[in-house]
Amino acid sequence: MEGDCVFCKIARKEIKTEIVDESENFVAFPDANPVAEGHTLIIPKKHFTNLMDLPSDLGSELVDMVKRVSEKRMREGAEGFNLVMNNFKVAGQVVMHAHLHLIPRKKDDGVRLRTI
Ligand code: 5GP
Ligand code: ZN
Repeated sequence: MEGDCVFCKIARKEIKTEIVDESENFVAFPDANPVAEGHTLIIPKKHFTNLMDLPSDLGSELVDMVKRVSEKRMREGAEGFNLVMNNFKVAGQVVMHAHLHLIPRKKDDGVRLRTI
C-alpha cells in the first residue's frame, strides 16, 4: 500500500509540494484543502497508519516540529491554533498515513471543526 500512498510520495518528494518544516523523521506541508490560512499537515516520513502505529520515541521530535510550525504561523499573524488528528475511518481519517492537522486560528475566523 505504501507505494500508492500519497503522503509517502510527498515524504519521498515524488510529489512536489511546499515544505514548511522538515526533520529526520517528520515533514510538514500545506493541506491541499485548507480550512484556515496556513493549515499544515505534519506527517512521519515512514508509513504508519495512525497514532497507534507511531513509535512513541518519536514523540518529542514531533512535538518540537509542532512548536516550530506553530511559532511560524503565529509570527505570520495567527493568534492561536488547533491540533487535530483523525484516527481510523470512523473518526474521519481519509488518508491512511498518520498525520496531524495544525490549524492556525484568528479571532472571529469562522472556522468550524467538523470532528469535535
Ligand atoms: P483526514 O481526514 O485524513 O485527517 O485529512 C486528510 C487531509 O489531507 C485533508 O485535509 C486533505 O485536504 C489533505 N490531502 C489529501 N490529499 C492531499 C495531497 O495530495 N496533498 C496535500 N497537500 N494534502 C492532501
Ligand atoms: Zn504512507
